[in-house]
Amino acid sequence: MIPAASLDRRIWLRVGAMLDGAGTRPLHNAHIVYDREQILYAGEDAPPRASLNPDQQAPDCDLEDYTLLPGLIDAHTHLFLEGGELDLDKRATYLEQTPEELLGHARARLEKILRLGVIAMRDAGDKHRVGLALSKQYTSSNHPLMPYVDSPGAAIHHHGRYGSFMAEPMRDCGSPHRCVEGRVNAGADRIKLIATGIINFKKGAVTAAPQMSVPEIRDLVAAAKSFGKQTLAHASGDDGIEHVIEGGVDSVEHGFFIRDDQLEKMRDRQIAWVPTFSPVQEQVDHAGRMGWDEHVVTNLKKILDRHAASLVKAHAMGVQVIAGSDSGSCGVAHGLGLLYELELMERAGLSPLAVINSATGAGSRRLAFKENFGQIKPGYRSRFLLTRHSPLESVTNISKDKIVVFDGGALESGGHFNTDGL
Ligand SMILES: [Zn+2]
Repeated sequence: MIPAASLDRRIWLRVGAMLDGAGTRPLHNAHIVYDREQILYAGEDAPPRASLNPDQQAPDCDLEDYTLLPGLIDAHTHLFLEGGELDLDKRATYLEQTPEELLGHARARLEKILRLGVIAMRDAGDKHRVGLALSKQYTSSNHPLMPYVDSPGAAIHHHGRYGSFMAEPMRDCGSPHRCVEGRVNAGADRIKLIATGIINFKKGAVTAAPQMSVPEIRDLVAAAKSFGKQTLAHASGDDGIEHVIEGGVDSVEHGFFIRDDQLEKMRDRQIAWVPTFSPVQEQVDHAGRMGWDEHVVTNLKKILDRHAASLVKAHAMGVQVIAGSDSGSCGVAHGLGLLYELELMERAGLSPLAVINSATGAGSRRLAFKENFGQIKPGYRSRFLLTRHSPLESVTNISKDKIVVFDGGALESGGHFNTDGL
């Protein structure tokens, strides 16, 4: 329906509504002009002549019942894992494969993820170098249809503490600086720290002491900065969250049990929050299968309710909230997991527009990606979604049939296609 753009064939669309990824209101009866590489014009006024093909008098398509929004960014994924798999034995067996096999499975997911509307993924770490290989593949000139991927490579943790399936211990490196240097030399786009343990579902709390001290985190962050890299930190439990805030990381990942005063500090210091509801919600959704009794389910629901309340406060306070699914975690399928995460953020009480901005412009502005995407404005890549099901009524409408425009080419994305293996 929508012709493909090339470098000398620009496409001009008029749409009923346009969300630019950052604004506080939709544009109505808006226009977009783009070529294969980038958006040349976006706005409510008719496009200036200079942005159009010579002699073009009218839009290529008039899509008055469509809403246009930026392609989605998933800011927390683990592409080396198969997220949709709930069987814990199968998950363990899966990880016995060679890195090449894990990479092969991850590659097979990429086009499906794109067709679901996710145009970029910030991988959050794996020690099998799957994320690094995909990040490298993306930057090669002849890559297949795939979302942008960047990766920290192996996360950094402490020997004997949580995270050994995706991280390598600090003690292997000699010093925090060498630890960071090794990852940068391996091709890391950013540095991932596992600063705490995870939630003890039976106790309904983070029961282990934080993994990393404030001075350790400061050293790692300083080393990352010396290489021009951002840091993302796995942190749950308010004592560990305090450590990563004081350590000066760029983003707090998960952040379960965060306190209001910590949200204020994050706002003031421009530390982003990626709340990742999905992995915990999946435990509730599949409680029977996971073997959780009523007591545990009550704990999980309480944790999620508190997290939801914090999300609403964070947004109202002006904290930079960025959507990330933690896809690859048990039950969190790639691509689909982000769509579910958005639904959970909406259920928590954010407006659909705020949720969409968290999955588009917020990450685009804060996470120092190597390319411009996630916003609808000139100079940004021509990667966006078109849907007749208004996402401003509910973000769940983004899961319905839509068109994904990726580098100027339009991919139809039916409501139903094979999502096995995600
Ligand atoms: Zn994660």
